[in-house]
Formats: sequence, C-alpha cells, structure tokens
Amino acid sequence: MAFESLTERLSGVFKKLRGKGRLSEADIKAAMREVRMALLEADVNYKVAKDFCNQVSERAMGQEVMESLTPAQQVVKIVNEELTRLMGGDEPTQLHIKNKGQTVLMMCGLQGNGKTTHAAKLGKYYRKLGRRPLLVACDIYRPAAIDQLRIVGEQAEVPVFEMGTERPELIAQKAMAYAKDHGNDIVIIDTAGRLQIDEALMDELVRIKQTVEVDDTLLVVDAMAGQEAVNVAKTFNEKIGIDGVILTKTDGDTRGGAALSVLAVTGKPIYFQGIGEKLDDLEPFYPSRMAGRILG
Ligand code: GDP
Repeated sequence: MAFESLTERLSGVFKKLRGKGRLSEADIKAAMREVRMALLEADVNYKVAKDFCNQVSERAMGQEVMESLTPAQQVVKIVNEELTRLMGGDEPTQLHIKNKGQTVLMMCGLQGNGKTTHAAKLGKYYRKLGRRPLLVACDIYRPAAIDQLRIVGEQAEVPVFEMGTERPELIAQKAMAYAKDHGNDIVIIDTAGRLQIDEALMDELVRIKQTVEVDDTLLVVDAMAGQEAVNVAKTFNEKIGIDGVILTKTDGDTRGGAALSVLAVTGKPIYFQGIGEKLDDLEPFYPSRMAGRILG
C-alpha cells in the first residue's frame, strides 16, 4: 500500500516514544532525527525535511507536551498538524473558476506525466458540476496527441477544439472565440510536452499566456518522480509562472516525497491528485487526508 515504508518508520518512532512515559528533550531530539531520516528516505527535499523536524521539535518541547500525561500522543498530533500545514492546510486549494464569463486553464508539463489525461479528467469533473468545458488541442507536434485528446474528450463527453498543426497561440486564441460562441465557460488548453525541459517549450507556453488570459496555469507532474517532480515544478514556475500543481499517479506513489515537498519548495499548492488511469480518477488534494494516510 501507499507510503508503507514512511508510515511504518513513523509508527516505529511513535511507538518508542509511547514506551517512555514522560519525554525528555533528548527523547524528542532522537525521535526527530529518525523522523528526518524517514522523510529523506521517502524522497522529501532535504531542507523541507529539516525545517519540518525543527518546527515539530520546537512545538514538542513546549510545556503542553512535556507536562502532558500522554506526551507521545501529543507529539503524534503535532506531526499530523505540521504535515497538513506543510501540504497546504485543512482544505483543498481551489482553482480560480469564475462564476461568470470564461475561465481558462492551461495544462503544462513534461511528456508522459498525465497532462492530456488530466485535461480530460478536469473536463469531466467540471461537466459533472454543471459547467460547459471545452478542451483545446495545442500539442501540435505529435499527431497522436491530438487524436488522444479527441478520444479522451469523447469519453469525458467534453468537446474538443483543434486546428491541426497551426501555431499553438493562434489555436488558443481561436478556441476562445469558439468557446464564447458555443457557451463554453471553462477552456482547458492541453499544451505540448517534452521529455525534458527546454527553452523552445517554455517560449511556446509563454506565447500562449501572452495571447490568451490564463486564469490558472496548471503543472501536471508525476508523483512517482519524487524530488525530480518537485524540481520540474520549481523550474516551470521560474520560467513561465504556475499557479499550482496537479499531482498524478498518486495511486502508484509509494513514497510521498513529491506530495510533501511541492508547496514548500515552489510556494505553489497541489490542487488535484490523479488516483488512477480512468477519467473519474481525480480528486481535490486534501492535505489533511494525505497526512492521515501517511500516519497510517
Ligand atoms: P501526457 O504525455 O503528459 O499527456 O500524459 P498522458 O495523459 O498521455 O498519460 C501518460 C500515461 O499515464 C497514460 O498511460 C495514462 O493512462 C497514465 N496516467 C495518467 N494519469 C494517471 C494516474 O493518475 N494514475 C495512473 N496510474 N496512471 C495515470
């Protein structure tokens, strides 16, 4: 199951604390060293793990915990709260979907991370909420990409706007006019991916953003890539500016490092998570639930 190793490691640390009754500062320090190791093994960013443990230690060494009759339980509670905070707080962060007029979402990310699938998942998600989304095919380099969007669009029962291999920014612009004429209130732009970050790709994304007013630039990253996913998010944010992340393939992620590090490293929240290959396998990202899963 998910996070098996991290969950197991943490529960081992807490078990040791529980066996102690009252806790000394040395006990907490030792426990936090182990928590830090467990986080690093889960592929959490080094600085994030360090800051996290410092924060937990500081709170755990406070009077309430030290004088409590159940100090170990208090430490678990603090870890839970801090994990939740690390990932964005109790509630999922919402996309900037407008109630009136058109909202434009631009999907970007590296090839194979789940961009096209998640464009369609989002389309279906909003269609089910009574909105009228439109998918836009701006990945013009691989003919298969347009076909793929058409297929998932059909499955999601969301229309797809395409203009073959026209310039992406022109396609985006025409799609806006089309959406206006056809009453589509959420325009979801699928853009090209590459195997690696390159300048041409970044320039293209910037040009789209200069041509249409994008409300949310969503970076689609594969949770299984761990810290590498977080580095990609950092670079995309620096180059084109992102509003948040869609973390995909969390169903296959056994470590949790990306989920834990994205916000702290990039300053950008995770909006949604992909939990499977099917178009319904999309969930708003609840930091508190994720913390709960990690703590087992
Ligand atoms: P793109 O190149 O970024 O557009 O990636 P695709 O949307 O084509 O997805 C690449 C592969 O990942 C496909 O086989 C998808 O079915 C799969 N995939 C996408 N999202 C998820 C997810 O949340 N969980 C799992 N298990 N597979 C996913």
